[in-house]
Amino acid sequence: MIELGGRKVLVTGGSRGIGAACCRLFAAAGASVLVHYRSAKSDAERVLSSLAAPVGSAHLAFRGDLADSTAIEEMFDLIQSRWGSLDCLVNNAGIWGPNPLRELDEEALAETLAVNVRALFLCGRAALPLLEESADGSIVNVSSTAAQRGEAFHSPYAASKGAVIAMTKSWSSELAPRVRVNSVAPGWVDTDMSASAYAGDGRERIASEIPLRRIATAEDVAGPIVFLASPLARHITGEVLNVNGGSVLAG
Ligand code: NAP
Repeated sequence: MIELGGRKVLVTGGSRGIGAACCRLFAAAGASVLVHYRSAKSDAERVLSSLAAPVGSAHLAFRGDLADSTAIEEMFDLIQSRWGSLDCLVNNAGIWGPNPLRELDEEALAETLAVNVRALFLCGRAALPLLEESADGSIVNVSSTAAQRGEAFHSPYAASKGAVIAMTKSWSSELAPRVRVNSVAPGWVDTDMSASAYAGDGRERIASEIPLRRIATAEDVAGPIVFLASPLARHITGEVLNVNGGSVLAG
């Protein structure tokens, strides 16, 4: 149903979790995918080798810390030299961790803002000239329910994800009509990022508080991301799509 043959897609943080599921789904729909990662080379290689490879597809991998603007420049140099075009940027890479206000760790605050906010601006700016050349250029930014309801002891993360929604809405009108910009806001997802919260009876407790009574898989989130990037969503821009099992009814 979703046909993305010939499309080129950059997924940041594609080595694990939601990003890896996105890479697989985009490739299954026929797209060429750049699997970006920070350090998990073997995970990224596993994802790369698992991707469907329809005729004409040309998957790539790139290692780089998104807190480093030079790495972002190098990633887009690779896209320019190997693909020469880009149809979709999925700003997925992110970090999460406790940082209570009372003991605010300034270094961790700066890192959260660098990876979860600044890098999205820099990737967006670098991608824009390419996306404007696409027949259906789009950006999908990964936010979180933390943006919508806040998250105690994680306010730097929640604030960074609030910024993701604000930039999505701002860019959607700024970049129209050439480029659509949307966001997904996942709740709890079963990935490495949030594994510590599922220890002990955490998994059951969290699932019991979600109306659909389960924690999302990475694939549950990847589907809506691929949908937003596809022609099926061609009249959707500025949207924040909740993928949270009904736990936060915002938007
Ligand atoms: P994950 O399993 O921890 O994977 C994170 C990915 O981001 C990895 O590919 C990692 O690369 C990459 N990454 C982390 N820091 C980076 C940096 N400085 N530079 C470049 N890449 C970096 O996370 P996930 O759960 O799939 O989360 C994906 C997105 O969903 C994030 O934006 C997250 O905030 C959001 N989200 C997650 C949940 C959840 O419950 N898991 C809920 C709501 C929103 P390496 O593999 O090389 O380390």
